[in-house]
Amino acid sequence: MGIFVVMLGPPGAGKGTQAKLLAKDLNIPHVSSGDLFRDHLGRKTELGLLAKGYMDRGDLVPDDVTVGMVVERIGRPDCQEGVILDGFPRTLSQAAALDGALSERGQSVTVVPLVQVADEEIVKRLTARRVCRNCGAVYNLVFNPPAVEGVCDVCGGELYQRDDDNTETVRNRLYTYHKETSPLIGYYFAKGLLVEVDGKQAIEAVQASLRVVLEMAGK
Ligand code: ADP
Ligand code: ADP
Ligand code: ZN
Repeated sequence: MGIFVVMLGPPGAGKGTQAKLLAKDLNIPHVSSGDLFRDHLGRKTELGLLAKGYMDRGDLVPDDVTVGMVVERIGRPDCQEGVILDGFPRTLSQAAALDGALSERGQSVTVVPLVQVADEEIVKRLTARRVCRNCGAVYNLVFNPPAVEGVCDVCGGELYQRDDDNTETVRNRLYTYHKETSPLIGYYFAKGLLVEVDGKQAIEAVQASLRVVLEMAGK
């Protein structure tokens, strides 16, 4: 049946940080729609250039473009046994498209951890986020600093601040989350798939909670 985990929660809740750890533990890919868009942007593809305006404002990229990109990714051979989805779905229409794509393969979403963090904490986290240009490792100047300032612990790459991690764009991303993405909480709750996790705990404690959630889901 495979393991299909949808990491739900506001921007900055720690979905990516946790998804990377879980993916390593379960030996399945971590698929982040934001990372896929940033990869396109780096390669200056048509899709990347289209996405840029939405990302810079903190608005959602249109569903058809986003769904096409993610469904193609999870259709590849390395995703047949499962995947940790992070940042997708973000609208009800994306969630329905995901269900459709999985059911065509005789599969379905296994569990949806909802990582909860209050808005004020999120603004603090995201404005202090730094990302490795080379390997994508995620740091935080306050909560999870690298050993050497500006340098990735994992690969020695240069750390940078995402263009959309400024206070104004973060506020719009939070607004967008509450308006467009929070209806997914009810959607997955109704399917019996939603499990809340306290995202304010330390990174290791959140990871331990998620492991329990996955064990309870039978994985
Ligand atoms: P998301 O993928 O949900 O946007 P990230 O995993 O990128 O979130 O985390 C956002 C920021 O918060 C990063 O700087 C990360 O290092 C930091 N962070 C992640 N988890 C925690 C935590 N449990 N406590 C404090 N800071 C965290
Ligand atoms: P974060 O985890 O900090 O919220 P992401 O990397 O997930 O940031 O997303 C960055 C931006 O990419 C979003 O603000 C949005 O513009 C775009 N994006 C990512 N995933 C989606 C999606 N599923 N639907 C629409 N837009 C998306
Ligand atoms: Zn790195």
